Amino acid sequence: MQIEKVYEPPRFEPHWAQWWIDSGIFRASNQGYGRVFSLVIPPPNVTGSLHIGHMLEHTEIDVTIRWRRMLGHNTLWLPGTDHAGIATQMVVERKLAEEGIDRRALGREEFERRVWEWKRQYGDTIKRQMIRLGASCDWSRERFTLDPGLSRAVREVFVRLYEKGLIYRGEYMINWCPRCHTAISDLEVAHTDVNGHLWHIRYPVNGMKDRYLTVATTRPETMLGDTAVAVNPKDARYFDLHGKTVRLPLMDREIPIIVDEVADPEFGSGVVKVTPAHDLNDFEAGRRHNLPRIQVIDEDGNMTAAAGPYSGLDRFEARRRVIGALEQTGALVKVEDYQLSLGTCSRCKTPVEPLVSTQWFVKTKPLAEKAIEVVETGRIEITPANWTKTYYEWMYNIRDWCISRQLWWGHRIPAWHCQECREIVVAKEAPTTCPRCGSSRLVQDPDVLDTWFSSGLWPFSTLGWPERTEDLATFYPTSLLITGHDILFFWVARMIMLGMEFMGDVPFRQVYIHALVRDAEGQKMSKTRGNVIDPLVVTEKYGTDAIRMAMLQGAAPGTDIALSEARMESSKAFANKIWNAARFLFLNMERSGVEPWVPDRLQEFHPEGEAGTGGVLIEDRWIFSRLNNCAEQVNRAIETFRYHEAAQLLWHFLWHEFCDWYLELKKLRFRENSGLTAGWRNTLAAFETALRLLHPAMPFLTEELWQRLATDRAKRPVSIAVTAYPQSRPEATDQDAEREIGVLQEIVTMARTLRTESKLDPKQQLAGTVYSRSAALEVARRHAEAIQKLANVKLEFKAEAAPRSAAIRSTAEFDLVLEVPKAQEDAQRKRLEKEREQLVKNIANSRRQLGDDTFLSKAPPPVVESIRGKLADYEAQLRKIEDAL
Ligand SMILES: [Zn+2]
Ligand SMILES: [Zn+2]
Repeated sequence: MQIEKVYEPPRFEPHWAQWWIDSGIFRASNQGYGRVFSLVIPPPNVTGSLHIGHMLEHTEIDVTIRWRRMLGHNTLWLPGTDHAGIATQMVVERKLAEEGIDRRALGREEFERRVWEWKRQYGDTIKRQMIRLGASCDWSRERFTLDPGLSRAVREVFVRLYEKGLIYRGEYMINWCPRCHTAISDLEVAHTDVNGHLWHIRYPVNGMKDRYLTVATTRPETMLGDTAVAVNPKDARYFDLHGKTVRLPLMDREIPIIVDEVADPEFGSGVVKVTPAHDLNDFEAGRRHNLPRIQVIDEDGNMTAAAGPYSGLDRFEARRRVIGALEQTGALVKVEDYQLSLGTCSRCKTPVEPLVSTQWFVKTKPLAEKAIEVVETGRIEITPANWTKTYYEWMYNIRDWCISRQLWWGHRIPAWHCQECREIVVAKEAPTTCPRCGSSRLVQDPDVLDTWFSSGLWPFSTLGWPERTEDLATFYPTSLLITGHDILFFWVARMIMLGMEFMGDVPFRQVYIHALVRDAEGQKMSKTRGNVIDPLVVTEKYGTDAIRMAMLQGAAPGTDIALSEARMESSKAFANKIWNAARFLFLNMERSGVEPWVPDRLQEFHPEGEAGTGGVLIEDRWIFSRLNNCAEQVNRAIETFRYHEAAQLLWHFLWHEFCDWYLELKKLRFRENSGLTAGWRNTLAAFETALRLLHPAMPFLTEELWQRLATDRAKRPVSIAVTAYPQSRPEATDQDAEREIGVLQEIVTMARTLRTESKLDPKQQLAGTVYSRSAALEVARRHAEAIQKLANVKLEFKAEAAPRSAAIRSTAEFDLVLEVPKAQEDAQRKRLEKEREQLVKNIANSRRQLGDDTFLSKAPPPVVESIRGKLADYEAQLRKIEDAL
């Protein structure tokens, strides 16, 4: 029965976190019982540590999962991490660099070994943090995207798509990082606005003396690789030049003038240079016109032999020299300042270089069709619904997906190149001989797959696919995915496409897109702003439960969350309030000789009558009715992802109804009780039900208190996490009790307000009278004793109209008049007189303004309207004060 005076979450949170795992209650069963609820985690990068965004995501997932588990569903939250190709490779490369080792000197095999070693050492940071924060995952099913099973799934998918003609090799323009030496996805390119220049260069038209075409470029060095200039087919200025050629300055090469939409007549001179090897639009124009591609920049960012005299120079040095030469020859006609969006590698900040290379692609159009259909027909429901529009926009304009990366860390592409006849063999296992020429000189493709390729299989690869496992049969399709909008396309869309292709069914039935966590001022958290909140630091300070509550309170769908320390502080106060309520109960139980007790059967919202009399105490009837109401709304809120509403409902119920009213009323009873009376049983049952309602949001505090109540191990579930979640029943609403306590609450609140307004000492008992001609009078009379204690007012009751008084408060049903002592009455009079004086001034001011024609003609109508409104208010207040005086 001992309960510590102070609420100190670090004392018990780590204990329960580990105990939950050890007890095995989060393990899901694949032996199909009852309704299944399954969810796979958006796998965090293995390099990462938990940030506040994860904590929000995991809190929302955990609330849902714990709630489903308590609803009795066979619940699985499958955890795991992503190998995160480029991110992990960078981390290990950096570490090696500190030891003075270059990855290339180490060799591929040894490098991969080092990465695995790193993963073994640091790869479970996230897991440890998630356990500490109470995530109720089934750790026995933890997965890593490079696990043997998942790697097998990757090869299987690759081979099947290849055989179906949905994977091909092709030339494409990719973002290339000359530092990281790999293709990087659009997502990994960071765009920053920089001040650059626009260089205007003129190209002489062949065979036409004094005729020039002027092109403008932000990257003059690429002109060395120009293979055409383009004019728009509709641009009348250049009709006479169709079919002609120009001479490329510096290189002295003859290149054609092509007619193509790539030239925008509105931009500059309307002529553009075409460099198919170094620009995506030009690459496509080059394809349309069969232009040669001259690569002048290589994979290290240096100029190639094709760059003639500039060969071997760094690309930026080459730019300086090209500009100098153009100036000298008079080809440079103008330089303008120009704002441009520079793409840099998000890992190493090196400017990316668009390069043409041979890559592997997935043909996405055929896969996208079904993925669009399942959202359109509602087989997958996306919440908030506005994200559906974004999804369609992406999917209708989908481009083939470049899946190869020039990295060493990841799933190596299961394709082998015959060194004799150039045949490409795609297979699940390494072939020994070439099926075309029989040679055994086969070399595996050096590239690895885009990280999103393996995470796109996550909902089924983690459950054992391509084996037909019990897990797959039980948990696929998963029930729900909770994730951020930044990966709606990169991840969510790909899971839908691949799930439909390989499982013939959706990967999840619902998607909930959560918001971003921002700071108190609504600013994005970032290291440079210095406003980043570290979840582990604040968890130590306020307790995990308080952080969860603080986040949930702001987690309205579609609204970013402003998280402040003030909010965490108040959430801790909320937890503390519950702690103190428990302490108060335990102390009184001890005094009454009551042992820890939890009802055997769920007697949710059934208050018990006293033996013999059968009467149920009014406050018990009331609290059970309020509990029932709270349960109804919280269930609905969690089901519809309205986490903020669930949090606010629980907060209001526990703090304002349970602690502020119910326990205050109970205080008056406890002295009368001894032993486990029906009254005690009701109080404990209500408290226990409230703990269960709160458990998904604040798991640690509720477990800690529940375990102290449910000491009878033989009869109880091992943990509150596996008790039943309270469900409301319409017949459990007790209107009469709610009305009756409502009257009591009104009178007490009114008396307290009057007392504060008159600046009276709360300890000083007052006399008062309730006037009413309705049934409320009888109700109030019944609770005279409770009102007297809660409001410190001795009441009389009169079935007549109330007299005029300064100390009066009224509702439609009754008036409460307090007798204010003489001294206070004088003070009150003085206060009212002062207020009257001020009001008279205000009224005169407003009237003067409204009578001033110049003012009226100049002031905007809303201002005038507001003055009129204020004047009416002042006048009404003045009448009241005069009445009172
Ligand atoms: Zn880079
Ligand atoms: Zn061969």
